[in-house]
Amino acid sequence: MKIFDLIVIGAGPAGSTCATLCADAGQRVLLLEASRFPRDKVCGDCLNPASWPVLERLALTERVRGLPSTSPEKIRFSVASAGSREIPIPASKIASSELVVRRRDLDELLADRAVEAGALFQDGSPVTALHRTAGFPGTPAGWEVITSSGDRLLGKHIVAADGRNSVTARFLGMHAARSHNGRIGIQNHIPHPAGYDGSLEMRIYRHGYGGLADLGNGLANLCLVANAGEMKELRKEAEIHYGLSPACAWRSITPISRATARHVARDGVFLCGDAARVVEPFTGEGISYALRSGALLADILNSCKFGSKMELKPREELYRKAHRDLYRNGLFVNRLTCLLSEHPKLAHTLSPILLKYPWALSFLTSKVITM
Ligand SMILES: Cc1cc2nc3c(=O)[nH]c(=O)nc-3n(C[C@H](O)[C@H](O)[C@H](O)COP(=O)(O)OP(=O)(O)OC[C@H]3O[C@@H](n4cnc5c(N)ncnc54)[C@H](O)[C@@H]3O)c2cc1C
Repeated sequence: MKIFDLIVIGAGPAGSTCATLCADAGQRVLLLEASRFPRDKVCGDCLNPASWPVLERLALTERVRGLPSTSPEKIRFSVASAGSREIPIPASKIASSELVVRRRDLDELLADRAVEAGALFQDGSPVTALHRTAGFPGTPAGWEVITSSGDRLLGKHIVAADGRNSVTARFLGMHAARSHNGRIGIQNHIPHPAGYDGSLEMRIYRHGYGGLADLGNGLANLCLVANAGEMKELRKEAEIHYGLSPACAWRSITPISRATARHVARDGVFLCGDAARVVEPFTGEGISYALRSGALLADILNSCKFGSKMELKPREELYRKAHRDLYRNGLFVNRLTCLLSEHPKLAHTLSPILLKYPWALSFLTSKVITM
C-alpha cells in the first residue's frame, strides 16, 4: 500500500495550489481528482486580480496569460427593464486586472504544475470513502482513502479541496448542519450574442442574476443564479435577452452559498477552497479565494515537519485562525450581493437606483477588482 505525506482530494484551484506548494517543499503528495482532465465546470471563468500573487508564487503568470483569454475593458451593469450603466476599467489596470479564462484550461494548467512539482496526479479517481487508521512510523494515526476503482491509499494528512459539495466534509461531519438555502447556478458557453462588445456584463433579472464574460474566439460564458423554484423563469428571461434556443444544454450546480465549515481542520484533515467556505459567485472571487486558501494551507503544512502528533493541534489551530482572517475583511460587496440575490424581487427593485449613481457602481467595483 502506498503511503503519502499528504493526499489532496480535488484538483480545482485550491487543491492543485496546495499540492504544488507542498510537493515543491519536498512532501510526497498524491492529488486525487474525480473527473478526467481537462474538464469544464460551472463557473463564470473570471479570474480576479487578487489571484495574481498566488499564480506568481506558482511561477504560472506567463503561462496563464498564454492561455486563450480576454481582459475586459468595461463592466456593464444592467437591470431587466431599467436600463444599463457601463463602468470602464482604468487602462492602467487592464493588464493586471480581471482575466476571463476557461476553467478547463486554467485547472489543467494548475494540475500540470502540481505534477511538475513532483505530486502524483490521479484523475478519474473519485474518493468514495476515507477513515482513520493507526500505525505510521512516528505518528499514531493517518488516513486510508478509497477510490471508486477500489484503490486503497494511505495519507498522513488529508487536504479536502473537493469543492462546495465536499464528500470528505460530509463523511467526516465537518460541514455546518444547516448550510444552504437551495439556490442553484447554471452555466453555458454560448456564441457571442448579436452586437456583443466583449464587456463583462452583470445583469439583474426579475428572477435572479446572471453574468456574461467574453472568452474570445466568438464564445462567451453565461452564468445564471436563482432560487431553485425560479430558475425556469430566469432561464426563459435570459434566453429571450440573449436570443438563445430553449433547447441549449446547461451545466448546473447547487448550493450557491454555504455556511463556513464547522471544522476547517480536525484530526489531520484540512478543508480548503469551496470545501471550507463558499463565496457568492456574483463578484467572481471564488477562484482567487480557492488559490489563496490552498497557498495558506500549504504554508502551514510546510512550516513544520510532517508526522508529529505534538505538532498537529497547533498547526490545525493556526490554520483555523489564518483561514478566518483570510475571509474576514474582503467580502463586503460579496455579502451584500448574497443578501440581495436571496431576495430577487428586492434586488430588482433596488438595483435601478444604483444605475443612477455610477460613482457608487465604480466604488463597489473597485472593492472587488483590486490587487
Ligand atoms: C454559477 C457560478 C459562477 C461562478 N463564477 C465564478 C467566477 O467567475 N470567478 C470566480 O473566481 N469564481 C466563480 N465561481 C466560484 C468558483 O467556481 C469556485 O469558488 C472555485 O471553483 C472553487 O475552487 P475549489 O478548488 O475550491 O473547488 P472546485 O473548483 O469545485 O474543485 C473541486 C474539485 O474536486 C473534485 N472532486 C469533487 N468530489 C471529489 C471526490 N469525491 N474525489 C475526488 N475529487 C473530487 C471536483 O471534480 C473538482 O475538480 C462561480 C461559482 C458558481 C456556482
